[in-house]
Amino acid sequence: MDKEVIDINTFDINAEPAEMDWKNLVFGYYPTDYNVRCDFKDGKWGDIYITSSPMLDIHMAATCLHYGQEAFEGLKAHRGKDGKVRVFRMDENAKRFISSAKGICMEPLPEDIFCKMVRMVVKLNARFIPPYGTGASLYIRPLEIGMTPQVGVKAAREYSVVMFVSPVGSYFKTGFKPSKICITRQYDRVAPKGTGRYKIGGNYAASLAAGTMAHEQGYSAVLYLDPKEKKYLDECGPANFFAIKDGKYITPASDSILPSITNMSLRQLARDMGLEVEERHIAISELSEISEAAACGTAAVCSPVLEIDDLDTGDKYVISKDGKPGPVTTQLYDMLCGLKSGEVKDEHNWCEIIE
Ligand SMILES: *Cc1c(COP(=O)(O)O)cnc(C)c1O
Repeated sequence: MDKEVIDINTFDINAEPAEMDWKNLVFGYYPTDYNVRCDFKDGKWGDIYITSSPMLDIHMAATCLHYGQEAFEGLKAHRGKDGKVRVFRMDENAKRFISSAKGICMEPLPEDIFCKMVRMVVKLNARFIPPYGTGASLYIRPLEIGMTPQVGVKAAREYSVVMFVSPVGSYFKTGFKPSKICITRQYDRVAPKGTGRYKIGGNYAASLAAGTMAHEQGYSAVLYLDPKEKKYLDECGPANFFAIKDGKYITPASDSILPSITNMSLRQLARDMGLEVEERHIAISELSEISEAAACGTAAVCSPVLEIDDLDTGDKYVISKDGKPGPVTTQLYDMLCGLKSGEVKDEHNWCEIIE
């Protein structure tokens, strides 16, 4: 592809916002101005380049198309009350991107290149950063794919990393409200020693049938069980799971779940609030003893759980008795949102201000 000549120094992070219906954005793809890319070829990463094209030029025999060599990330930039633009813990996303790449034998993108690309793609698309107070944010989507054309099953020698952005609306269209989730033993998302801890497209393909089934029955997500014994809780489709039990923050320890950066941050905030934190196996039977539960991830921060229905046994665990989010979940949600918008003091230095 022809490389465009774009001088990033002429861009302003405080650019006039684009004309968009900011308050009614969904969590979806909206075209923006630029994306940034970096290719691995001849044994090394090349220079980062900028393009306005949303299209990729991929050989039909590329490994990403046949053997699933694809990993991705998801993080957000927020315009704060003070007008500044913050990105949350991008170093952690960079590290996880490396882990995911290694997990499926792709070349890992060095952390410093990842962070540089994030800063660039945010600044280049500054007019798409939703204004403060709209509940919307700028979602950043990095992805890596194997590009070498080959039919034999082996890892590619060439890779492309692309980072694009899309403004996204608040996850909670009708306010911060609990929803129902379900348990099923009819599907697994991943295998016991499989790829569950990597953020890869293949895991998502494997979860689509179960997710569709759950949505059709009125559930917001499937709460997957550990794929080996089917006794313990794993995670909620594209989000981790936590619960509050006897005043403790409990969350599953498992090799087959994706280590969520939101969950990691909530554990720290819970400790800061004086809560005990336990990362351990959580048996299904414990669901009758918890006072709050939520799914957590970058998209929603926390999505409180109303009820968990076991579709195989018919058991129903009512988590929120009054239909409202629990007090601890609400407090954690407010703290993390406040941190990201610069309204809560960033004690742990989790936010980087983009200039
Ligand atoms: C991305 C993702 C999460 C959430 O991770 P965050 O870093 O908190 O956004 C949880 N589970 C799966 C399977 C994911 O892909």
